[in-house]
Amino acid sequence: MNHIHTSYCSNCKRVTNLNVSFTIRTKPQKNDKKKLIVTKTYNCETCFSFVLSEDEEGIDDESFHRIRITL
Ligand SMILES: [Zn+2]
Repeated sequence: MNHIHTSYCSNCKRVTNLNVSFTIRTKPQKNDKKKLIVTKTYNCETCFSFVLSEDEEGIDDESFHRIRITL
C-alpha cells in the first residue's frame, strides 16, 4: 500500500507531513464473502487537522493482516 506522506494543509497554509490512521470495516457480499474496506485518514502532523481520506477496497487477507500488524 502506498501512503501519502506530505500534503498541503489549509490550516497551516503550507505543505506538511501527515499522520495516517486506518479504519477497517467489512462489507458483506452476495456470495457470502466479505469485502474489506480500509479507510485511510490523513491528518496534519503539526496541527492535527483533517487533510484527506481515501478508501481502499477489496484488499486480500494477507494485506489485511499486514495492516493490523502495523497499526
Ligand atoms: Zn496543519
